[in-house]
Amino acid sequence: MKTVADVLKLIKDEEVAYVDVRFTDPKGKLQHVTLDVDLVDEDFFEEGFMFDGSSIAGWKSIDQSDMMLILDPSSAYLDPFYAEKTLCVHCNVVEPDTREAYSRDPRGTAAKAEAYLKSTGIGDTSYFGPEAEFFLFDDVRYSVTPQKVSFQVDAEAAAWNTDAEIEGGNLGHRATFKGGYFPVNPIDEAQDIRGEMLSTMKRMGIKVDKHHHEVATCQHELGMIFGGLVEQADNIQKYKYVIHNVAHAYGKTVTFMPKPMKGDNGSGMHVNMSIWKDGKPLFAGDKYADLSQEALYFIGGILKHAKSLNALTNPSTNSYKRLIPGFEAPVLRAFSARNRSGCVRIPWTESPKAKRVEARFPDPAANPYLAFSALLMAGLDGIKNKIDPGPASDKDLYDLPPEELAAIPTVCGSLREALDSLAADHDYLLAGDVFTRDQLEGYMALKWEEVYAYEHTPHPIEYAMYY
Ligand code: GLU
Ligand code: MG
Ligand code: MG
Repeated sequence: MKTVADVLKLIKDEEVAYVDVRFTDPKGKLQHVTLDVDLVDEDFFEEGFMFDGSSIAGWKSIDQSDMMLILDPSSAYLDPFYAEKTLCVHCNVVEPDTREAYSRDPRGTAAKAEAYLKSTGIGDTSYFGPEAEFFLFDDVRYSVTPQKVSFQVDAEAAAWNTDAEIEGGNLGHRATFKGGYFPVNPIDEAQDIRGEMLSTMKRMGIKVDKHHHEVATCQHELGMIFGGLVEQADNIQKYKYVIHNVAHAYGKTVTFMPKPMKGDNGSGMHVNMSIWKDGKPLFAGDKYADLSQEALYFIGGILKHAKSLNALTNPSTNSYKRLIPGFEAPVLRAFSARNRSGCVRIPWTESPKAKRVEARFPDPAANPYLAFSALLMAGLDGIKNKIDPGPASDKDLYDLPPEELAAIPTVCGSLREALDSLAADHDYLLAGDVFTRDQLEGYMALKWEEVYAYEHTPHPIEYAMYY
């Protein structure tokens, strides 16, 4: 853990010219302002930095716009892209007068969630292992647009598609629909780009483990080693930053939108989670899939609250185009050690230390601070209230007979439904003041704007179906 003294030494040793202070807005976008290094001394870490919060969507109104950033020295890293040597520090937002956490600051929420876990006595540490997938396309300014990439149409995709826009024909050495996992190059066309992304992350101090092409054409994933809640939410922000900027340097563009391509897999952000207490893993035990009773209750909480969680873990109108059958994304609120078609999977491991539960419905459009905090709160609610997740579903859930299928509850089918679900079910988030009513109201107002923008706009497919 870097201290203020470590950071000041780093600034000196590396002859840093600028300090970039960064924070995340409610929608999950990283924001920054760059300060001359002479401004940054020990007092500066104490005193913080004032900025105008009224221009950040979903934050303060113009008449009460003053807000303060407090730098977290443990998050410091050298920027890998700027020409001038720049140290970046992630910040929490506080009220300038009281210096209390600003309740709509996502990173502050994540810190409160970590503290809340300790206060319950259930555990003292939560570990998060997010797996964010993304698509890499040629930049529209240089070459073809994503919509114009041509595909070989396989029978299933052809049957599924209702329009005639997808071009057939020979692709040369390109991944077909669902054909990206994982032949070597030249079908895997992005080995060097991904390698540069992963090495860049490693130089920034992130513990990384792998990179690979994903199932969909043009889809990729980089692997990070698990870590604490705030730490991993910070790391997802760095992950996206690096991936976007390395892609940009290659004349490419990346999207984390959950379903950019019809008829092929979408991008998930599976979240692996475990809780520890006194240095021991709380989720390892002798129940189903070598889980503990606490882990089963944790799963019970996630499944119970999945629909309201969707508003935070699947926060875009596009998210619900991913949560459909047939593309390795979950629809049913079920759990299993074996199949990937339910909301929660227990990845196989012999090691009690690696015992974890994987929530499969979240996607990378989520604000990682809010999504991880909400998942933890739902799981803790499960443990506190002994919520039974029911029996595990070890069959392929997509192949169940219709009567059995109809009996299993599902995730939300739209952002509208998710926001209604959050409005109806959020007490578990308010426990310990981790989330606040004011914060959820502000968040939902932002998201309703997206719902209306989407619902009020004629869609190209509607012209094909109805014109
Ligand atoms: N892309 C799939 C999803 O939408 C996940 C594939 C995988 O298991 O890695 O969640
Ligand atoms: Mg994956
Ligand atoms: Mg996974």
